[in-house]
Amino acid sequence: MFYIYCPYCKEHREEEEFHPRGQAHLLRPEDPENTTDEEWGDYLFFRDNPRGIHHELWVHSVGCRKFFNITRNTVTYDILETYPMGEQPTITAETERVRKEQGVQSADGGWQTVGARPENKALNEETSS
Ligand SMILES: [Zn+2]
Repeated sequence: MFYIYCPYCKEHREEEEFHPRGQAHLLRPEDPENTTDEEWGDYLFFRDNPRGIHHELWVHSVGCRKFFNITRNTVTYDILETYPMGEQPTITAETERVRKEQGVQSADGGWQTVGARPENKALNEETSS
């Protein structure tokens, strides 16, 4: 069991309340009549599958039923941040690359880190109240 922070409910909720809905920030072609079959096919069927930072659309289906975005590391399964629809992520593959190059410690103790780890003090404090 782990917890995901809903940016609308403003609290951590159990993972069973959420469902993933695929890649985030997909933009529908503005003018479908003048979009090539290839561009339309890309929009409908092709998704990124990166190793590392990925932005995903999730829905709090058993809670507020609102859609929001998650930045997740597909290697470690850590959820690095959640943010409402219409906002941009603060963590991207580019910022992670820069952070690693500079040797900055990751935010493992941060409240957004998930994975039911007892050493995660911030998460335990948040959920025990
Ligand atoms: Zn919610």
